[in-house]
Amino acid sequence: MSCDKDKLFNSGVLVEHVEGALLPPQEKWEAKKGGYVVIECPKRIPCNPCHTSCPAGAVLPFEDINDTPKIDYDKCTGCGICVSRCPGLACFVIDLTVGKGQALIKLPYEMLPLPSKGQKVKCLNRVGEEVAEGEITSVTEPSKDKTYVLSVLIPKDKADDIRAVKVQ
Ligand code: SF4
Ligand code: SF4
Repeated sequence: MSCDKDKLFNSGVLVEHVEGALLPPQEKWEAKKGGYVVIECPKRIPCNPCHTSCPAGAVLPFEDINDTPKIDYDKCTGCGICVSRCPGLACFVIDLTVGKGQALIKLPYEMLPLPSKGQKVKCLNRVGEEVAEGEITSVTEPSKDKTYVLSVLIPKDKADDIRAVKVQ
């Protein structure tokens, strides 16, 4: 993977994988029902709800509050709790085992209107371009003031690109 932090920090958009954008080990990921967390948080900032909210201890303790998150994939259940707790909307869960050329992504959603189960949505890449069509399989209501989590069936070959949806 290429590494170009200037491109990220000048644009504010993670346009490609950079150091700190953590991906699960591919072979285990392909076989892991429920998927693994993918955290795209390469900038040192004083923030750690991904760690404090994880019930499985999969996001390792921060030595310094400014550290970027590190993950023990053996502990990640794919529950998606961190997706709703991350204030940077930087946590996703991606399940590559659903078959039929599809993947399931759990992503944070803070827009209106809310979609409903079965609804088709436009899938957007990191810069907001439409790259595919997806289907909502669930909408998880947040607790308190946290963020909705959408589960979306997407083309598997776009799992590395899709990070948002547009609801019409
Ligand atoms: S998906 Fe669940 S288990 Fe995995 S890191 Fe997030 S909160 Fe922890
Ligand atoms: S909660 Fe989100 S923004 Fe904060 S450190 Fe974790 S991944 Fe980054």
